[in-house]
Order: sequence, then C-alpha cells, then structure tokens
Amino acid sequence: MQSLKVAKFGGSSMGDHVSMLRSANIVKTHSSQLIVVSATYGTTNLLEHLMELSKGSSYEIVDQTISKLKDKHLEICNQLDLEPIYVEKINQIITELCTLIKGTFYLNEITPRAKDRIYSTGERLSSTLFQGCLQSVLGNQFDVDYVDARDFLITDAQFNKAKPIINEIEQRSAIIRDKLINNPNQYFVTQGFIGKTIEGETTTLGRGGSDYSASIFAEAINAAEIQIWTDVAGIATTDPRICTTAKIIHEITFKEAAEMAIFGAKILHPTTLVPARRASIPVYVGSSFDSDAPGTWIKENCDYKPLVRGITKKDDQGLITISNPHMAHAHGFLAKIFEVFQSHDVSVDAITTSEISVAMTIDMIHLSNQSFIKNLEEMGKIRIERDYSLVSIIGNKINTTPGIANKIFNGLGATNVRMICQGASVHNFCVLVDQNQGETTVKNLHQTFIQ
Ligand code: ADP
Ligand code: ASP
Ligand code: MG
Repeated sequence: MQSLKVAKFGGSSMGDHVSMLRSANIVKTHSSQLIVVSATYGTTNLLEHLMELSKGSSYEIVDQTISKLKDKHLEICNQLDLEPIYVEKINQIITELCTLIKGTFYLNEITPRAKDRIYSTGERLSSTLFQGCLQSVLGNQFDVDYVDARDFLITDAQFNKAKPIINEIEQRSAIIRDKLINNPNQYFVTQGFIGKTIEGETTTLGRGGSDYSASIFAEAINAAEIQIWTDVAGIATTDPRICTTAKIIHEITFKEAAEMAIFGAKILHPTTLVPARRASIPVYVGSSFDSDAPGTWIKENCDYKPLVRGITKKDDQGLITISNPHMAHAHGFLAKIFEVFQSHDVSVDAITTSEISVAMTIDMIHLSNQSFIKNLEEMGKIRIERDYSLVSIIGNKINTTPGIANKIFNGLGATNVRMICQGASVHNFCVLVDQNQGETTVKNLHQTFIQ
C-alpha cells in the first residue's frame, strides 16, 4: 500500500518565488502528496498590523497596507509565470480582505471571529500560489489540487485558539486519503493554521499553528511521515539565533521534543506532536533552504538519551503569587485557584507553593484579562510581577541525577533566579529570570551543558 507523506512549509519557505520553487522541488523529491503551507513570510504579522490600523487610523493607510499585500502576492504570481486564473484568485481573496477590513474600520472594533476570517486570507493566498507553482514543477502528468482546509479541519468555536474535533476531521478527510492512496500522481495543497466550526465559521489554531495542522491532517489520512520544512536544518540544542554554537539534534523522542516546544522552542507549535504521537507518525524537521543537510527525526524511542538535550526560553512571562493565611492546613485551596484558571482558559507553566502562598507563571497576555485577575483576587492577596523569561533545561532523568542542580547553579553564575521548578517531570528543570537576563542565561546554560 502507498505510504503517504505530509509536508509542511513555513512562512520563510514561502517567502518569495525562489523559496516556493525550492519548496516545490522538495515535494517532488520526497513525493509528499499532501502539502500544508503557512502564509508567505511576514504576511500574518502584516494582517495583524492591518487589524490594528483598521481601528481608528485613516483609511488611506489601511488601503496602502492592503495594496502592499496584494502587490507582494501578484509579484510572486508574475515571477512564477502562473496563468491569469491565479491572478483572478488572488484578486478575489484580496477583495474579501478589503470588505472584512472595511467592516472593522467602520465598526472601529475587531472581534475574535472577524480576526480569524482576516487571518485566513494569508494562508489562502500562499496556498493558491503554491498550488500553481507545484503544478508547474511536477508537470501535467500530475494532478495538483487546491484543498480548502476549512472543509476538513473542523474545530470548536474558540476563535484565535480553536481546538480540532478529531473524529469529524477523520471522517471528512477519508476522501483525501482515498484519492491519494489510489493515485500516486495526485497531490493536494492546503492551508495550515485555519479551520472552520461545524456551523461554518472560520477559525484559527493560534499563531504558529500550521505545524499543528500538518500533524492533524497526517493523523486523519493515516500518513507514514510528517515533514516540517523551515529555515533551520532541524531542532537545535537551543535557538540558533541566541547561541551560534547550537547544534542540530539528529534524533529526539516525542516527549523531549514536545517538552522543548511547550517550553519555548518556536521551531514547533507546542501541540504539534500530540496527533503525531497518538498515531505513531515519525516527524522529520529539515531546512527548505538546504534540504540535503541532515535534520531532526522525532520518534517514540531513541538509542541516545542524554541528560541534557537542549535549553529553551519562553519570554513574556508573568508571575502571580496568591497568599491566603487560610491556606495553611486547609484542603481544596489549589483546586479553587485552578478552577479560575480553567474557566479563563489560562495555563500555568511553572508552579511553587509554600505554607500560605502559591506562585505560578503564566503568559503575560493574560494579565490584561480583568475578570481573570478579579476572580483571583477573591482567592486572597495577589501580587503580580511581569517581564520574566522561563528558561528550561530539557533532557532525561533530570529529577533523579545527582549533581545536576549544582551544575545548573554554577552555570547561572550571578544571575538572580526568581523561581525554580523541578521535580514534576523527568525531562525538565526550569528557572525564572528577568527577561533582560534571558539570553545570557540560555548562553550560560548551553555552555555549561552542551558546549
Ligand atoms: P516557520 O516559519 O518555518 O514555521 P518558525 O520561525 O516558526 O519557522 O520556526 C523556526 C525558528 O525557530 C528558527 O528560525 C529558530 O530561530 C527558532 N528556534 C527556536 N528554538 C529553536 C531550536 N531549539 N532549534 C531550532 N530553531 C529554533
Ligand atoms: N501564518 C501563521 C502565523 O504566522 C501560522 C504559521 O505560520 O504557522 O502564525
Ligand atoms: Mg512556525
């Protein structure tokens, strides 16, 4: 039986016509029949900027920004020498974008629902271009069709951070799987990041969500492999932008890679590996700029499991401390606090407790949610601190290896550590430091444990 491969290309792999052609040639080499693409490089940020502009600035500036986006995509279309139908499709999506933006401009507000409709235009533009590009690279004996991800990737209605409804996606994707299995010359190009509710409203999976889409689709079509093509040669021991000495990890377990993604390694969206692991689909991460360079294989088991695999950093962390004298020897206090977190859909990364206080790190964005803060104030006296980085040492047997704490603190040198969290996971030891010390902390720990 045909073993299906899903390939995902991120924004930089869709940056311009040269990148698109390079990405199309990777698809050809690997015969990856289902392709999931992100918006072209910088487009989602531009759309976000556009949404900000549409609240209150002059329509002329809004109009100029839309023209910039349109010109960028029409230029790629022209450079790829695509047929006039593609120009027409690009213009249609841009017209829809104009209408949506006009609506927000006149209403002077942007709802999460409208935001997702607007975001979706980015991936729809890039996938339109990439379908044309791939068809021309593969030639006429191949069928390269455009698939609107929203007809398959069904989600709940949490706009901007929607959750996939797996059984619905599986049922709907059966037709894609069958067509791909029955015809090795059939390719489909679809969008990452976007989905739809059962009622038909466009949703998104959260920023960076295209990796997650690829994994969801791979599970739904029962793929044998997922390839994530990006701008670096694979998962490195830390972000290569911070440490030039970072080394590519050639093999890593699902658990370690998931821990790295959750604790800040931007190379993978945090939930990417959930469907892949559930369906036992190995994931390859490689560079679309240098596809022959050996990348990273993520799989269930690896022969080599070092004590420290990598160092990650998550910025913009807030620290909330709740103190209540009644907490001493009382039951259920933490349960009540977590009910508040659950009802506001806020997740905690690191937590420590003392006799009468509990301290938790959260993404700083949640600190502007007034009703969340008000509900926490009902639990006791609260203290809020901002601008921290959570730096994590990710590896194996972290909580049972003698001497590791000593080595970590030697590596940290004079850096002040606001909070430490370790013990819950065999894979992780976190330290919370001032954000302006974040990069130095990563460099110091990388030097201590890796090189
Ligand atoms: P894409 O547009 O392809 O989705 P992203 O920008 O989302 O790409 O992710 C790739 C980036 O992730 C790299 O350029 C790199 O700076 C960053 N990154 C962070 N941590 C790591 C890591 N541990 N290994 C490799 N890249 C990392
Ligand atoms: N285009 C979306 C973003 O920039 C999704 C993605 O690239 O994964 O967040
Ligand atoms: Mg990404």
